[in-house]
Amino acid sequence: MKVVIATLLAGLLAPYDATSAQRSERPNILYIMTDDHAAHAIGAYGSRVNSTPNIDRIARDGAIFTSVFATNSICTPSRAAILTGQYAHLNGVTVFNRFDSSRMTVARLMQQGGYHTGMIGKWHLGSDPVGFDQWEILPGQGVYMNPVFYTAERETTYTGRYATDVITDRALDFLRTRPRGKPFFLMVHHKAPHRPWEPDESHASHFAGRHIPEPATLWDDYATRTDALHENEQRITRDLTNRDLKISRPPGLSGTALSQWLTLRPDSVATVIDGQTVVLRGEALVRWKYQRFMQDYLATVQSVDDNIGRLLAYLDSAGLSRNTMVVYTSDQGFFLGDHGMFDKRFMYEESIRMPFVVRWPAGIAPRTRADAMALNIDFAPTFLDVAGLPPSSDMQGRSLLPLMRRRTPTTWRTSMYYRYYHDPGDHNTRVHYGVRTRTHKLIHFWKKDQWELFDLVNDPYELHNLYGQPGMAPLTASLKAELTRLKREVRDDDQLADVQLPNGVDGTVAKLRGK
Ligand code: CA
Repeated sequence: MKVVIATLLAGLLAPYDATSAQRSERPNILYIMTDDHAAHAIGAYGSRVNSTPNIDRIARDGAIFTSVFATNSICTPSRAAILTGQYAHLNGVTVFNRFDSSRMTVARLMQQGGYHTGMIGKWHLGSDPVGFDQWEILPGQGVYMNPVFYTAERETTYTGRYATDVITDRALDFLRTRPRGKPFFLMVHHKAPHRPWEPDESHASHFAGRHIPEPATLWDDYATRTDALHENEQRITRDLTNRDLKISRPPGLSGTALSQWLTLRPDSVATVIDGQTVVLRGEALVRWKYQRFMQDYLATVQSVDDNIGRLLAYLDSAGLSRNTMVVYTSDQGFFLGDHGMFDKRFMYEESIRMPFVVRWPAGIAPRTRADAMALNIDFAPTFLDVAGLPPSSDMQGRSLLPLMRRRTPTTWRTSMYYRYYHDPGDHNTRVHYGVRTRTHKLIHFWKKDQWELFDLVNDPYELHNLYGQPGMAPLTASLKAELTRLKREVRDDDQLADVQLPNGVDGTVAKLRGK
């Protein structure tokens, strides 16, 4: 069956027939993606908590997109959306289920179109990568220290090494050994800064003891919001574990006892302040937990930024910078204590907003800013457009190239459809779907038939649910109509029944190959 599908695809997707001269001018594409890196932890996006000089350099020398959103804010589904240019209900990856590798992807199309293709780092789609001339990936989530990587032929343990450094080393190896007669398309996917936020020693010491400013909504009490927010289990207050907080483990623990201790969520912590041992509880403990979480999170981000600097330096030294499109993004956003949470999943701004900066000196002017609404399903058509290749007819996204060139089409989208399926998932997050326009957001938690409506202009932190409030009926009706229209437009014809989780990969699969 797979052979039949492959043959069918090969027939449908005619090879790119540009002349060899045109081929040689086609730009290279270096796509760097992290896991859970919120835009508000990037200098170019106005971070209050850290600085990221190398990511900022990409933005300064090219374009920064301010309104890029994940269509389903969780790791594996976002990766599938990026590869296929399709929403989850069409690409088959709604939660952590395995990606059907016989499907069309941007990698397959780029490879068939004459690009030398590579994939290095976190894949997390259950099936092995297809469409890449060279790939080397972490099994499942992978680990930060002493990481194992595998290819079709071998497994390698990088003893004593840190995953972010190894991924960069392997990417540099791909670039140095690539065939010179073809442009390249390289996806570099970091594990960082995903939980459990384990920095290497030098970056950890850089952030240890540093005070990180608290977000404006750390103490959000969820007044006016629906049950879904009240029921979430991704709170700084009570859901960070001993492992997350890097609390010194008691001596003598091993096996099941150690596993249980690591997943315990402490409601008091003993720490030393000014030479005195103090037991923290309540508000003081929450503030301490926030600091511990953020110090480690930001330290893993700093390692990513340093390593991006290594890739940019290589492009410079090899004379490749001018005609290489370099993208930096993350598979979704992240709550950095915002609304008292960590993790993502919800349709709130901090979670769905993806950083997206792109540099291509031969094709994009420096200091370009694109505010039009873009989605992760736009990435695949963008890369194909840049390569001079047509998108597959079943891709739902649109090329972002006109936006990069400050020529946003008048027909560009002004609203987006979002849907989240992983309920209860690891953080007891309720299924929901919704619409975001440039000024408003309407979310429906359909199992309880509860709604949230936000005015993003006057309430950018989404603290005041206006649904059902006096005077809101006309706005609500128009947003509901838009939501229905979008649902139909993206061909999500599911009747919003409970979605059963398949027995596929999940976020904690440690078995090699993530199967
Ligand atoms: Ca992620």
